[in-house]
Amino acid sequence: MKICRSIQSLHGELSAPACGRGRIGFVPTMGFLHQGHLSLVRCCREENDLTVVSIFVNPAQFGPAEDLQRYPCDPEKDIVLLEKENTDILFMPDNSEMYPQPYRTYVNVEGLDTMLCGQTRPGHFRGVATVVLKLFNLVCPAWAYFGQKDAQQAIVIRQMVRDLHLPVQIRVMAIVRDSDGLALSSRNVYLSPAERQAALLLPKSLQKAAALIGSGVAESQVIRESMQKELDRDPLLATEYISIVRLQDLQEIPAIEAGNTLIAAAVRAGRIRLIDNLLLGDLSC
Ligand code: AMP
Repeated sequence: MKICRSIQSLHGELSAPACGRGRIGFVPTMGFLHQGHLSLVRCCREENDLTVVSIFVNPAQFGPAEDLQRYPCDPEKDIVLLEKENTDILFMPDNSEMYPQPYRTYVNVEGLDTMLCGQTRPGHFRGVATVVLKLFNLVCPAWAYFGQKDAQQAIVIRQMVRDLHLPVQIRVMAIVRDSDGLALSSRNVYLSPAERQAALLLPKSLQKAAALIGSGVAESQVIRESMQKELDRDPLLATEYISIVRLQDLQEIPAIEAGNTLIAAAVRAGRIRLIDNLLLGDLSC
């Protein structure tokens, strides 16, 4: 695996004869890798000739009161994990490489960035769309891999790709969970044992939603109330939102639409914010 810390060395690797003829697949990450990230890398390996992974903790997507300084990192371990997955190129730029000063250009995917997580994380999706577009421009992938775990992010990226006619296909992979059902997340390491126990109510609330839908219930309000009841079972959890929305525009809908609905929730367990979702439809494009 080649490790590139500068744009110049990335370009050098990508223009090397060995890379010249193949299809490039790309997995953008913020590091502290777990099996969720690695599932994307594996799929990328299977579907492309060259696999490029990036690790960059993007300051533009963190609000001033958020955990940028505390975001977990372990680059040595990440490198070992990516070597084992036969990653071809790891791109690990620093802030000055990605955002040379003065920096002035940002991407807004209007209308999709203010709902769900955007309500409490203003500017987050602007930061995400900006860095992903920059990375796409640097790596020029044919395919890029994202996780359903961050479904709103995938929807924002998909819209940006369509709107800007970007020559990349987006694949959205299923959520990888721990054996107890909690969706894997780099931030889970910061949960205390009691918070982690409480956090299990988040996937459980989505299982309740799935069971209701399976039994024929379609009204959003009924599903939302059942999820809220589940989340309220532990006072350590504070619900940020439970949203039942259409995939295209993230607008709340009164009843689920088969093949076109996202049920998403965010909670806080202590200082840690957790998200999870149930997808009725497909986000790849
Ligand atoms: P992050 O490092 O958190 O920015 O995540 C990088 C990519 O991995 C994003 O596309 C995430 O949606 C995806 N990802 C994170 N957690 C999971 C998970 N538990 N299962 C599948 N994909 C995930």
